[in-house]
Amino acid sequence: MTAVLEASIVEQLVAAIAPVLGEANVLTSKTARYSRARVPAPFPVHRWAERVPDLVVLPGSTEEVAHVVRVANEFGVPIVPRDGGTGLTDGAVPERRGIVVDVKRMNLIHEIDLENRTATVGVGISMLKLNEVLAQHGLIYPDNPASYPCSLVGGRIGTSGWSLIGSRYGHSRDLVLSFDMVTPTGDIIFVGDGGGRKISKSSSGYQLKHLFMGHQGTLGIATTATLKLYPKAEAEFSAFWAFDDYDVAYKAVGALARAGIATFAGAVLFDEKKVEYLRRDDEAYIPQPESVKALVCSVGYGNSDEVAAGGRRMMRIARDLGARYMGDEISQGDWASRHDRYATPVHGRTLSGQVALMSWHCEDAAINYTDLPAVTREWHAIVEKLRRKHDVFDDWGMFAYTSSDTGVDYLTEIDIGIWEEKLDDTTWAAFVDAKREIAAVSLKYGGSISACHGSCREGEVDLVPQELGGGYDVMLAVKRALDPNNIMNPGKYGLDRAYDNEGDRR
Ligand SMILES: Cc1cc2nc3c(=O)[nH]c(=O)nc-3n(C[C@H](O)[C@H](O)[C@H](O)COP(=O)(O)OP(=O)(O)OC[C@H]3O[C@@H](n4cnc5c(N)ncnc54)[C@H](O)[C@@H]3O)c2cc1C
Repeated sequence: MTAVLEASIVEQLVAAIAPVLGEANVLTSKTARYSRARVPAPFPVHRWAERVPDLVVLPGSTEEVAHVVRVANEFGVPIVPRDGGTGLTDGAVPERRGIVVDVKRMNLIHEIDLENRTATVGVGISMLKLNEVLAQHGLIYPDNPASYPCSLVGGRIGTSGWSLIGSRYGHSRDLVLSFDMVTPTGDIIFVGDGGGRKISKSSSGYQLKHLFMGHQGTLGIATTATLKLYPKAEAEFSAFWAFDDYDVAYKAVGALARAGIATFAGAVLFDEKKVEYLRRDDEAYIPQPESVKALVCSVGYGNSDEVAAGGRRMMRIARDLGARYMGDEISQGDWASRHDRYATPVHGRTLSGQVALMSWHCEDAAINYTDLPAVTREWHAIVEKLRRKHDVFDDWGMFAYTSSDTGVDYLTEIDIGIWEEKLDDTTWAAFVDAKREIAAVSLKYGGSISACHGSCREGEVDLVPQELGGGYDVMLAVKRALDPNNIMNPGKYGLDRAYDNEGDRR
């Protein structure tokens, strides 16, 4: 645990920062600090106080962010970038305390370029708010996570986020064209595809945009971003089908993803445990007969005539495999509620059937289509072992969701219900072990530990060097070169070892 900063240091930090940001934007109250201490991923309640920042700042511009970062370097105090605070791998958690840089005030739309189809925004804006304005121009910024209303553009950059309709429009890395950012030493740089703000493909120089996305705030703070816009779709197709057999549903999701339908935006497979969980605990779910063992959903977006034709083909593919269409009400309603289904915490049932205030943790990975059944079996076995030992965990089932338009790899998630209030050191250690085992299975099958959230949390993070091999050494070298004082979100991704004298990561 990192020590609380002495009051006199906090005072000096405030004195150095407030004249530039304004006193109202430098916060030291308990409320301001505690409300930025955690993210929705469950963590033992008795340990929450370990990760509270000493100071919160609300910069309003790139220059103000740079000022804060320079001050942090001068004092050797950790800095943690935070946007919506919805990240599920603890990226925005101030594990070493220090200064949380909350970028939500930078939420302006600076430009909408109707001809080149771009928007330039402050990173504190949500996709929901941006799209309300873009809709007036018939446009959309189609980064569409389940956290759509509450995650913000800066966090999407920090995590290199995954979008529910990414098989049609791409994910955050494809949709963010360029951004201004403040490096860990307080310099202001611009990164994109080459040097142009609105360029989607350049071969000039290193592809730095990708380096500065998904780093979980360890390499700097993005401030203003230029985003790629699409015409707002004239039509949406969404269909849910029920299956009496997981294997047939698995075939169907693969067939839908591989069909080459231009409007195809994604297909998702819910396994038997997920169907059981929905039946048991999700009040919004319309219960299906016990014979239903798996569900598949497929969606399409685009111009009306194209969506209609693509939808007909998807219906035919599913029908030919024996799928039962669940009807328009469920299909359209369930898809429409995709951003609302994960309210946390939610109620749930423990293994002994007791109704409890359960939080939800999703363990995610990128898995190839061919390995989904085996990974599904092995992950459930790990969670089953965990829940048999400890009545504070529950298996809320799995889903696998296409990441691309060819169906090569799937964002694969197992949702674990956790009675967070009851987490103690023993159950937390057991959970961390389970996370490590889950990550090990993903690597065994040639997958990646995370398709969506990042892999910084206890347990999974131990396996990142194994996943990346020599690439992890490059990460260490980059971190050391760009952040000589290790102030930018220290402790994440095990990057402290970049500063070990021996330089030995194992
Ligand atoms: C209900 C729910 C559903 C979710 N569904 C999805 C989903 O479908 N797809 C998906 O990808 N994720 C999903 N997530 C996870 C989360 O929403 C994403 O990781 C999101 O990208 C985080 O954005 P944020 O604004 O909340 O970022 P934060 O949580 O504030 O930060 C995330 C990371 O980015 C860093 N960061 C924040 N701002 C900046 C910045 N300006 N510059 C550099 N780094 C920065 C932080 O330090 C942290 O490491 C879900 C989460 C919840 C709670």
